[in-house]
Amino acid sequence: MTWQFAVLGHPISHSLSPQIHRAFGEQLGESVQYDAIDVPPDAFNEHLERLIDAGYQGFNVTVPHKENASQWATHLSGRASRATSVNVLFQDAERGGDWSGDTTDGSGLLYDLTQLQAWALQGRRILLLGAGGAARGVMESLLHSAPETLAVWNRTPARALGLAEQFAMMAQQCSVELVALSSAELEQPWDLVINATAASLVGTLPEIPAASLAGATACYDMVYGAQPTIFLEWAERLGVAQRADGLGMLVGQAAESFYLWTGQRPHAEPVLTQIRSTLAERATR
Ligand code: NAP
Repeated sequence: MTWQFAVLGHPISHSLSPQIHRAFGEQLGESVQYDAIDVPPDAFNEHLERLIDAGYQGFNVTVPHKENASQWATHLSGRASRATSVNVLFQDAERGGDWSGDTTDGSGLLYDLTQLQAWALQGRRILLLGAGGAARGVMESLLHSAPETLAVWNRTPARALGLAEQFAMMAQQCSVELVALSSAELEQPWDLVINATAASLVGTLPEIPAASLAGATACYDMVYGAQPTIFLEWAERLGVAQRADGLGMLVGQAAESFYLWTGQRPHAEPVLTQIRSTLAERATR
């Protein structure tokens, strides 16, 4: 039997997900077909239903469809419903095979931060840049990792405020100080700065003071590439010793999706090494 999965997005041709999931299949001795399918913003439901009729058994969902997917799914996991974001759709055996939506971005990020990078989060001061789908998707995991403070900054301040309000109760339950800050309030020492904005994708830096990065122990950019992102280069110039891009998060969230579809949990680390070389090869072409 061949598993049939796909990632739906727009644009999607750059996606590394097909290589990642095929590598998981090879590692586990499973035959896996995984396609990257370009689905225009207003055609999500009709494409999805056609693909299900054609036999697809699981989907990843990326920009701009994460919200569409959360509306389409019959059931949402607690974390997807709290994040109002879905990056994986799977047939839930516990619900008679109904299509369920989940978000695995948070566990992908924690896998990278705590296992691959071995960065401690408990009791630390974390600054999260961005308030889009990616930031929303990782809030719960960050709060449960028990930092002392989680501060959110966003280019459009109202969205950062909204995010802080959305997770205020959870922060209280986790005994974490959760605040939305303006650029002027960022000049304080942070242990970890996570860039969850799309700024690096377009080669720009988030408009925050250099001093907010200068004293940081570690910086993470969810964007990844063959070369360090513009944000990680900036962090290096400012003397931040520990830096990582989002490739480990990507492979980590993919491993969690693969598990939801097949019940088998792949080892992400060897696949990450493989994908890192694919990126480097693409860059030399
Ligand atoms: P999104 O929902 O479209 O949100 C985009 C976010 O980036 C918003 O906070 C937006 O601020 C901010 N932004 C965009 N351009 C900016 C700029 N030039 N300067 C400052 N802020 C800017 O996208 P998303 O789903 O959150 O994704 C954000 C990034 O994370 C993307 O680059 C995506 O590739 C990456 N990501 C990586 C992984 C991974 O596995 N590594 C997973 C998910 C996402 P406004 O609110 O002001 O517009």
